[in-house]
Amino acid sequence: MSSLTRLLFSELFNGPRTIDGPSIDYLDVEKLKLIAKKYHRKHRGRSMYIRECDAGSCNGCELEIHAVNGPIYDLERFGIRFASSPRHVDVLLVTGPVSSNMTEALQRTYAAIPSPKWVLAMGDCAINGGCFNSNYAVLGGVHHILPVDLTIIGCPPTPIKLLSSLLTLLKVMS
Ligand code: SF4
Repeated sequence: MSSLTRLLFSELFNGPRTIDGPSIDYLDVEKLKLIAKKYHRKHRGRSMYIRECDAGSCNGCELEIHAVNGPIYDLERFGIRFASSPRHVDVLLVTGPVSSNMTEALQRTYAAIPSPKWVLAMGDCAINGGCFNSNYAVLGGVHHILPVDLTIIGCPPTPIKLLSSLLTLLKVMS
């Protein structure tokens, strides 16, 4: 049997190579749902919308954002959604260190969000420049450019950390 045929057979019979998702207990979904329901309904009466802005990240943080939007974490079940236009959102979620090229875009995105608005710095780079801090093209953390309401530490922060920070933000907003 050739090595290619062996590989094909092993792929067919050994199953997928993906890891199992977190259990329902681990996510404590019911508790998170109750928090979301209480704060959305009682204090806001509608969903929370987010605009993400990559100010110069390595895209590691974006992968975790994709994960939190996927079927395992399913962010939208908590009434939290991403939107394309800053004019339709409440929250600006910034990833990456602020690069000089992205400074104006970041400021303009923030300016386009109607008040009241909140800024979340996601990941060590957005907090203090992280591993890119000493680069000539980097200004550092988001707080150098915009007022930051909440930070999420990690490189990158896990989807569950992002999810619980968003729910914390809901309480801050109320
Ligand atoms: S915090 Fe880590 S994963 Fe996120 S942009 Fe910086 S280096 Fe990449």
